[in-house]
Amino acid sequence: MPADIPKPLRTCAGCREVTAQTDLVRLVVMDGKLILDSDRRLPGRGAYLHPRSECGQIAIQRRAFNRSFRRNLAEAELPAGWNSLINPSSPTPNGA
Ligand SMILES: [Zn+2]
Repeated sequence: MPADIPKPLRTCAGCREVTAQTDLVRLVVMDGKLILDSDRRLPGRGAYLHPRSECGQIAIQRRAFNRSFRRNLAEAELPAGWNSLINPSSPTPNGA
């Protein structure tokens, strides 16, 4: 009987879905900028986000990062590496 080890859960700053931490990308603020914490080892307060473009956009629009980091990010922009995380699973509109 394998023990059911609980995984750490986090809330996506975009869609607010609670999901396994491993399914989310950690972001931290350094020098007033959002950066990716790909190793999840950077110090400080982090925000978690699904690697999806819509979750990133929602988080920006709702100023979710200001809340997560308890500071006012004048320009909360997604980090440079963000787009490379998003799988361009573009469903080609090939209907009919
Ligand atoms: Zn999300």
